[in-house]
Amino acid sequence: MKTEMIKLAGDVPGNEIELRVLRFEGKAGSAAPSAYLQSSLHGAELPGQAALHFLLPMLQQAEADGRVEGSITIVPQANPIGSAQWLAHQHLGRFEFFSSTNFNRSFPLLDSLDTSSLIAPDAPKPLAERLKAQLLRLALPHEIVLDLHCDDESENYLYIHQAFLPEMYDLASALGSTAILSWDSTADAAFEEACAHPVLHLPDEERRKRAVTTVEFRGLADVDIDTGKADAAGLYKYLVHRGVVRDDNTRLERNFAGPVVPLENVEMIRAPRGGMILFHVDIGAEVQEGDKLVTVVTIPGDPSGDITLAAPQAGRILTRRSSRYIRRGDDLMKLLGSRRSDGARPGSLES
Ligand SMILES: [Zn+2]
Repeated sequence: MKTEMIKLAGDVPGNEIELRVLRFEGKAGSAAPSAYLQSSLHGAELPGQAALHFLLPMLQQAEADGRVEGSITIVPQANPIGSAQWLAHQHLGRFEFFSSTNFNRSFPLLDSLDTSSLIAPDAPKPLAERLKAQLLRLALPHEIVLDLHCDDESENYLYIHQAFLPEMYDLASALGSTAILSWDSTADAAFEEACAHPVLHLPDEERRKRAVTTVEFRGLADVDIDTGKADAAGLYKYLVHRGVVRDDNTRLERNFAGPVVPLENVEMIRAPRGGMILFHVDIGAEVQEGDKLVTVVTIPGDPSGDITLAAPQAGRILTRRSSRYIRRGDDLMKLLGSRRSDGARPGSLES
């Protein structure tokens, strides 16, 4: 394994950041697929970082045994800007402090895998834009791109462009994902979309060998040794299955049986008013249309101010908000429905 430190100058003096890039060279060259894995694009989303922490020794062992066939690039902490954003003792890694732009939006969308038009690391552009270009430069040469995120309180699920289905059921099987959220228009130029966009212009046969996804490895607090090791084992199994690593003792069973839900079928349960929220159902629950989901307490001590939201259709509760104190208009839950949501809108589900 080789470690490369990529330095990007800050927008003002004395604020350089370092991107730590870990590389394994594949023995088979271009005969085997290559893989790129990054985590923590939103700074403090750590389940993916934990998985990579336990995956790396497994890959180092494979390298020592001469079993790494395709090249692998790993960036465990993809966003040094976001990782360092703390305010009043709270970590805030979703939006960049300077521009208020979500770190996982507004990536450049290229029509081909040629990255020469991306801005250079020393371009006269804000650091966040240079970082995004740098991450794309690292990722795009690989056939497999896994961007490891997590949700708030959540089951384990994947975002996948429809063009990569059903081939990518193998990843859902390897990771034990509950569901796949499939998309086909735009994800507001998220990293995943920027990695998928040039691939969608490739011939079918080429595209089918590739894989691009956002992995939502459960919730923010699901960071522990057992989960990290299990997720590392899932990622490893997938890399073996795709031929990036060779391991005769590892076999993938394609047993993904969860729903594949178009984004338009996801019910985003939004708060009509601000206040305290009291959930009636947990993640993983199957609910019927009309079942109580969550009560917003708008006048503490006076039940007449309670607003109870009901399921707009039957389905599975995929995610919940972890903070119980919310603002008017906030997203509180995702419910996986089987028909188009009346509230469906183009683009990504959340800001
Ligand atoms: Zn994220």
